[in-house]
Amino acid sequence: MKTENAVLIRGVAASPGVAHGPWVRFERKTHVSRGIVAEPEAEVVRLIAAAEAVGRASEHLADEVRGAGHTEEAEVFLAHAMIARDPELLDAAAAHIRVDRADAIAAITAAATSVADQLRALGDTLLSGRAADVLDVGDRVARELAGLGDAGIRLSEPSIVVAEDLPPSLTATLPRDRLLGIALEASSPTAHAAILARAYGIPAVVGATGLLATLDEGRRGSPLALDGETGEILVAPTKEDVARYEARAGAIRRDRGRDVEEAALPAVTKDGTAIELLANIGSPGEAAGAVALGARGVGLFRTEFLFLERSSPPSEDEQVEAYGQVIAAFAPRPVTIRLLDVGGDKPIPYLPLKEEDNPFLGVRALRLADRRPDIFVTQLRACYRAAVKGRVKVMAPMVADAGDVATLRHLVDRARAELLDERRPIGQVDLGVMLEIPSAILTADTYVRELTFVSIGTNDLLQYTLAADRGNPALERYRDSLHPALLRLIRLAVEAAERSGIELSICGEMAGDPEAARLLIGLGVRVLSMSPTSIAAVRRAVRASLKSGLEHVAMASLGDASAADVRLRLQT
Ligand code: PEP
Ligand code: MG
Repeated sequence: MKTENAVLIRGVAASPGVAHGPWVRFERKTHVSRGIVAEPEAEVVRLIAAAEAVGRASEHLADEVRGAGHTEEAEVFLAHAMIARDPELLDAAAAHIRVDRADAIAAITAAATSVADQLRALGDTLLSGRAADVLDVGDRVARELAGLGDAGIRLSEPSIVVAEDLPPSLTATLPRDRLLGIALEASSPTAHAAILARAYGIPAVVGATGLLATLDEGRRGSPLALDGETGEILVAPTKEDVARYEARAGAIRRDRGRDVEEAALPAVTKDGTAIELLANIGSPGEAAGAVALGARGVGLFRTEFLFLERSSPPSEDEQVEAYGQVIAAFAPRPVTIRLLDVGGDKPIPYLPLKEEDNPFLGVRALRLADRRPDIFVTQLRACYRAAVKGRVKVMAPMVADAGDVATLRHLVDRARAELLDERRPIGQVDLGVMLEIPSAILTADTYVRELTFVSIGTNDLLQYTLAADRGNPALERYRDSLHPALLRLIRLAVEAAERSGIELSICGEMAGDPEAARLLIGLGVRVLSMSPTSIAAVRRAVRASLKSGLEHVAMASLGDASAADVRLRLQT
């Protein structure tokens, strides 16, 4: 019997590995209000029933997470259950239905917003945190009324998650034990969904134009296969396709075994230049794997993932604990903790930011310090306290100029002074900034002497240099990290760091691409930080290269007109 061919969709490779199996589609729908209601009492009954369902679900979640040992999260869900049954909130919503004839969705949304506003107006950090909880519960009741269920993704069997795009907060909470792979219609390899997939070792393909339409067109029940190294997605793969994917999976497992065996080999070029290979991580759980793959420290700890998918920020003690775990795993090697980088594609529910037309160009990362210095001071206090356990470096994201470095200094002085006042033991911390905005590189000479290190974030640097949103798949042509404009900026940064004698590293995704890494070495970079799963391939590339040859190619590439020209030069 002849089997029908699979449908091939070409996307962009985002996280290595292959997967095949059933898929589950994630859609973040918004709840639609039904307008004026004719029978207000029936609508009030609907409201109470939905609120009760959310209350019960919250209690259930509390039991689940307590069973898994997370007592603090359990408290949060218990508080949610109480809010869902809070007579003040429900009375306000019911009054809105009876008086204004609003439907239950509009009524609960308005009531939750008004309670949250009142809590925030009291100007107390704790109560502001409660405001976010109230909004969260209001949103869940509205989803329940709209029949949308919970926003999270639950997988009843091992599956591939398919979506237009995935918010990073959701990617961070995907059930990893059942997640085979990720296939996204939109997004790009430098968006955070892809970065997290690499961190977790989950195969992923992004920018797969046409995927959702193909799945909608009668292929609903068909399984999927994807290859995160070639960017290939097969809808309804044949038996032969599946056998081919399984053979690839076997080869990848063998490669990973070899990667661990080679972890102790030094990353030194054939002509004797040592390159420091560090890990980018997003949670303490990733530290052990990074050490096993030979990371000589952490060049970027994206701490924002500790802040996402919660209803209030982690306490100072919780942060000391999380940072301490990573520091202990790597001691005496350094761990670079990046201060909170939220906003852009990483919103957090308890830090309500104004809606902005261009959030990537808005109040993001360190720019939040004006409004919420307390969050950064708490984080810095945790860093200084955790530093008694090992070598700690702290860096600020999204620094544009010397003024932002002054802001960092001010926050650091405040955190240290408080700790010294309280006679708490603190360790030594090196201070640095990320170079990810062109202005920070162009004016580096005005502030670098105040720092011990700088680290180039090529993901953002590329999007800001070429004015190409890092999440927009239509702009792939502008997102080639071999673009000469990016290379020129990197060279300027290397020169500024050399002149002032401070360390420079690269922690954008570019550092984990063996070809790009060779070019960076040629430009004078000696420290590369990347997803741990990329370390082995980059180490091999370093060991196979001559620094003198790379310098020659890299310097010539600065005069090239396009990334394609640079790539050609690297290959010849
Ligand atoms: C970068 O911008 O290159 C970077 C490393 O930070 P993030 O990807 O978290 O923005
Ligand atoms: Mg960045």
